[in-house]
Parts: sequence; structure tokens; C-alpha cells
Amino acid sequence: MFLHGTSKKNDAGHLEIGGVDTVTLAKEFGTPLYIYDVALIRERARSFKQAFENMGVKAQVAYASKAFSSIAMFQLINEEGLSLDVVSGGELFTAITSGFPASRIHLHGNNKSRAELKMALDHEVGCIVVDNFYEIELIDELSKEYSRKVPILLRVTPGVEAHTHDYITTGQEDSKFGFGLLNGQIEQAMKTVLDSEGIHLLGIHCHIGSQIFDTAGFVLAAERVFEKINAWKEEFSYIPEVVNLGGGFGIRYTKEDEPLPATYYVEQIVEAVKKQVDDMGITMPEIWIEPGRSLVGDAGTTLYTVGSKKTVPNIREYVAIDGGMSDNIRPALYQAKYEAVLANRVTENHDKTVSIAGKCCESGDMLIWDLPLPEVQAKDLLAVFCTGAYGYSMANNYNRIPRPAVVFVENGEAQLVIKRESYEDLIMNDLPLKSKVSQG
Ligand SMILES: *Cc1c(COP(=O)(O)O)cnc(C)c1O
Repeated sequence: MFLHGTSKKNDAGHLEIGGVDTVTLAKEFGTPLYIYDVALIRERARSFKQAFENMGVKAQVAYASKAFSSIAMFQLINEEGLSLDVVSGGELFTAITSGFPASRIHLHGNNKSRAELKMALDHEVGCIVVDNFYEIELIDELSKEYSRKVPILLRVTPGVEAHTHDYITTGQEDSKFGFGLLNGQIEQAMKTVLDSEGIHLLGIHCHIGSQIFDTAGFVLAAERVFEKINAWKEEFSYIPEVVNLGGGFGIRYTKEDEPLPATYYVEQIVEAVKKQVDDMGITMPEIWIEPGRSLVGDAGTTLYTVGSKKTVPNIREYVAIDGGMSDNIRPALYQAKYEAVLANRVTENHDKTVSIAGKCCESGDMLIWDLPLPEVQAKDLLAVFCTGAYGYSMANNYNRIPRPAVVFVENGEAQLVIKRESYEDLIMNDLPLKSKVSQG
């Protein structure tokens, strides 16, 4: 088992996170429960910022909030001085409500509605990351209503697709996001934007994928973008103030994963950019990045209570927990792998092999196959590690299972930051059938 952040085995033989015993957390808040190690989030945030400072580069580190968003989370990100990416009116509303400074919010999305754009302009967000020609038209039109210039980045698809262990240079840009970098679309978009009275083109954005363990894809994408920037210098006399190279830095879910330290990604990316900038003889633009998973992924742990078991003779033992694909859809969606321990007996030998089943009515609702655990009994507590990203944010009410609560732990204290949904919450928007008009 790998313990990370502040998690450790305590004298009671229990798993402890942030100085708080998880057995106590289960008693106090119930299960399933998402537990966030706040110190670890702070450490990750600081190391990204520090890496840029060490290299003397002006930067913004924007938390890609789709990984996990809530009022308290946004307040924590604000405390650490990071910026924030939002991709919908709902995420923007949460950010504004949390008191997050709008000037450090960036609005993303491949189909922003007029209402969402208006909301962003009402609050004067720091920039809008523009994805397509329709959006340019909308923003140009809205800028007249607001009588001020709208700061934007143009998102490009660089023809580099990064996957966990390698990257593919597609050379073409088959993606629903952004303007093709290599097929003339971006130049067309730039012409329109540079001619618009109401739009201020801050710079260029690209994002090549997720859970990436290698810097080569980032470096290649940066090189492609800067080759273009060199050409645009001649063609449009335009030099971007900002180049945003996205997120996607990989984390360790299981011992097979070998992520690089955050600082290493930043160093490699910045080195590549510096080289290009020197060759071109232009001023270094601000470099922005957008880590999501790598800020919160391994800081999250989900605590479940064990219930039923089923043994299929000579094949396997299924152990069922009180959650599943309703609170963690990643195994069902992308065969994501996790590690877990028995939180209430963490010091015992984990030398039996079982498979962890969720409680949803889907055979595919399996959280972990072939997990080493001690002999498990009902009421044991299972702690699944690294569920902090795309866990709660993708949670759903399949089978009308209420979404779990979320607690932050730090320095021996636990704080409830999202309440557990109740059955009443589940039917809150349901309306009864209209009664039939009586006959006669
Ligand atoms: C999802 C996303 C991110 C964050 O990705 P992670 O893998 O969570 O780091 C960053 N930028 C954009 C544009 C995204 O869509």
C-alpha cells in the first residue's frame, strides 16, 4: 500500500489523514465520505507556483476546477493565490459565490451560451478562452452592449494528442475543441479577432490531454505553437502576451503509475519556450498552465462501509461497499485503477484477494478488481486512495443514490464542506402527475 500526503497508520491501527482518524470520520459524517487532505492540496499548489518563480517567468497557475469544484475548494484555491478555470455557468456561479476574484477566472467551453458569456462579462472575468467562430461572433456582438474590450485567448488544436504513456502527432486536428493550428483555421480566427473593435486578443491556448506522464507532448505542442507565433509576427505583426499550455499532468493512482514532479513539467515546458523565444527575439510571454487532477487527485480518499459478500467458488470473492459508480464513475467509464486499504485495520496483512463491487444495478459497477485486503467483514471501512479528481465532480444520482458528503481535514481538524444529500434533496425538483379531469 502506498501512503502519501499526511496519510499514515496510527497507534490504533487505523488510517489517519490530516491528523484525523478515518474511523472517527466515518462515525461522525457517515459513509461513503470523500476526505480531502488540505495540506497536500496546498503543497501541490505551491510547488507549481514556485517552479515558475524559480525560473523567473511570469505565470498564472489556474486550477481546472472541473476536477472538483465547491465553495470551500474555490476558497482554498484563492487562499493559495492560484487562478481558476471554469467551463460552465454553474462552475462560474460557484466561483463568484465563493468570493473568488473574477479577474483571475478564465471561462472555457466549446459551446458557451449567450447567457453564460453575458454572466462572464457581467462579472468581468479575467479572460474567455474562445473555442470557435460562432463564439467570436457572439463575443463581438456582446462587446458592443458592454462597451468595453473583452480579453480572450484563442484555443488551438496543435495536432498533438497525449495519452498516459505516449503521445501521437496526428498532424491533423480531429477534435471538437479549438481552431486547427495547422489547417489555416487559427489564422482566419486571428484575422477576425484582430479586426474586431470589441475583442482584445491576449494570446493562445492549447491543451493536449490528461494523465500524461511525459513532457515530450507538451514540448512538441509548445514548439508547434511558437513556430506559428513566429509566422504571425510577420503576417499580423502580432505577438501574444500569454501562451497557455493547458493541464493534464499525470498522478499516481497505483504503483504502476510513475508521475514526474510538478516542477519538472514546468521546467521542461519553460525551457522549450525560452529557447523558441530567444531564437525569435521576442519578449517572453506569460506562461499559463491549468492543472486539475494533479492538484487534487491524490489529496482525495473515499471511505466506504463494507456490506455483503459473494463467493464464486474457485473464481473470486466479491465484496460490496455502500457506494460505487454513483460516487466514482471512472472505473466504469475508463477502466480506471485504484488502490485501497481497510481503514479500520490498516496494520493487518493485506494478503487476501477480493474484488470490490459497487451497489448500483449494473454488472459494470466494479470499483477495484483483485485487491489485496485482510479477511473482510461487514462494517469494515474501505479507504480508496486518489479519488480527489473527477470523483465528486462526476458523481450522480443513478439508482437515486444520494451524493456523499465531503470533508476537508487539516492539522487534526475535520470540516464538513459539502453536506450529504438527503432523500428529500433527491425529489426536490420532482412534480406529481396532474390529476385526471373527472369524467362525466
Ligand atoms: C480538463 C482540462 C484541464 C485539466 O486537466 P487535468 O488532467 O485534470 O489536469 C486543463 N485544461 C483544459 C482546457 C481542460 O479541459
